[in-house]
Amino acid sequence: MDLNKLTALETFEGLRDKKFSSEEITKKYLEQIKSFDSKVGAFITLNETEALSQAKLVDAKIKHNESLSPLAGIPVAIKDLFCTKGIKSTGASKILENYVPPYDASVVKTIRESKGVIIGKTNLDEFAMGGSGENSGFFPTHNPWDISRVPGGSSSGSAAAVAADMCAYSLGTDTGGSIRQPASFCNATGLKPTYGRVSRYGVMAMTSSLDTIGPITKNVEDAAFILQQIAGRDEKDSTTPAEKVDDYLQEIKKDIKGLRIGLPKEYFIEGVDEEVRNIILSAAKKFEEMGAEVIDVSLPHTDLAVAAYYIICPSEVSSNMARYDGIRYGLSKRDSRELLDLYLDTKTSGFGAEVKRRIMIGTYALSSGYYDAYYKKAMQVRTLVKQDFDKTFEDIDVILTPVSPTPAWKLGENTNNPLKDYLADIFTIPASLAGICGLSLPAGFAGGLPVGIQLLGKRFDEKTILRAGYQYQQVTSWHNKKPDIK
Ligand code: GLN
Repeated sequence: MDLNKLTALETFEGLRDKKFSSEEITKKYLEQIKSFDSKVGAFITLNETEALSQAKLVDAKIKHNESLSPLAGIPVAIKDLFCTKGIKSTGASKILENYVPPYDASVVKTIRESKGVIIGKTNLDEFAMGGSGENSGFFPTHNPWDISRVPGGSSSGSAAAVAADMCAYSLGTDTGGSIRQPASFCNATGLKPTYGRVSRYGVMAMTSSLDTIGPITKNVEDAAFILQQIAGRDEKDSTTPAEKVDDYLQEIKKDIKGLRIGLPKEYFIEGVDEEVRNIILSAAKKFEEMGAEVIDVSLPHTDLAVAAYYIICPSEVSSNMARYDGIRYGLSKRDSRELLDLYLDTKTSGFGAEVKRRIMIGTYALSSGYYDAYYKKAMQVRTLVKQDFDKTFEDIDVILTPVSPTPAWKLGENTNNPLKDYLADIFTIPASLAGICGLSLPAGFAGGLPVGIQLLGKRFDEKTILRAGYQYQQVTSWHNKKPDIK
């Protein structure tokens, strides 16, 4: 048995039934990382010593039949945007290159208190700005399916690590697609929960009104399993409501007969790769065979979403990045003569090109005289996009779409054309603007590259998209395909 191929739930069951130890599992994952991560570049920091001692501790507890949380002993990789006490947390930015936080993000705290094994911190586009993994301030991540291609982003390392069996599951963030799109490019399952479903306390903010946290996993059942452990109210994040957390693992077992699945015509436009289109349509057919009803729907403001997002996101970025001023933490160019020079020198050498680009766009969009024309307009569009979904969900349970118009592109292909990267977010951004939940799961291959489908659900209705995804994986096996890393 390849221990590093097990899902998180299988790992939980195996540990419980004493079929193997957490130390064995952890060592197996570390071995996998050491064999292949020089090619993939999924990890910024390995947490080997702590991981092994945590694993041994769990093993001792299991030996003495102590009761443990379901996450105990399971190796997890965490996006380097999450603060981990005592472990370097960089946001993949040179400005935080040596930053070791004095506290844990709430989700990390949950994992640590559950005795989860944090195996390492994963690479990303700097501060989660990007969709290819190439904007990391350190090195790009490569797609395990074809290392000349991007893994998607911004949770590039988290998706690649799961696909390459370097962890049982990982955590990512999704602001405009950063969990769903890399999951799709790497043949993993990625869940973007409803805005507010999972606490963001201690996760570096990018676009505070859109940022969400979720799992990237080997199948949908694991996404349900992990969400159940990390969702819920957190006093430290006022955007988390007391809304009850469903028993997702129970809910997904129900069949999908009569489920109403909407197919929005705005997601099948020119520019969508022919093979991608066919994969989505055959998934729709599969759902019909399983007893669901597939219905044509329309989300008329879809084409405005990218433009609105690329005003709202940079506007919030221009404010959120202000904290990296060289005074309080991180890089500090203290040899500068004046205070203003200190700020300028720190930011000039600490931030990468994409971060600088967004700070400038956002500052411009928010400045007096332009605010009404850009920011206010974008917020109005955001309301229209949200209303599209609200209306559609009045008689539809789940919306089925592509995740991305194309499979993974070549590294370097869009470097001089950031707009091309932005446009590739066309199918993930609308759900982000509306604050609803979305699931990306493997559904086929185009030219040997993984292609995912996206299932969108109502606010706090993760149970329904997870159910549809889980039932789909009962009758398909795309999610079980593994890359041969060369
Ligand atoms: N690709 C999008 C962007 O560059 C989304 C990023 C994200 O979800 N963090 O902003």
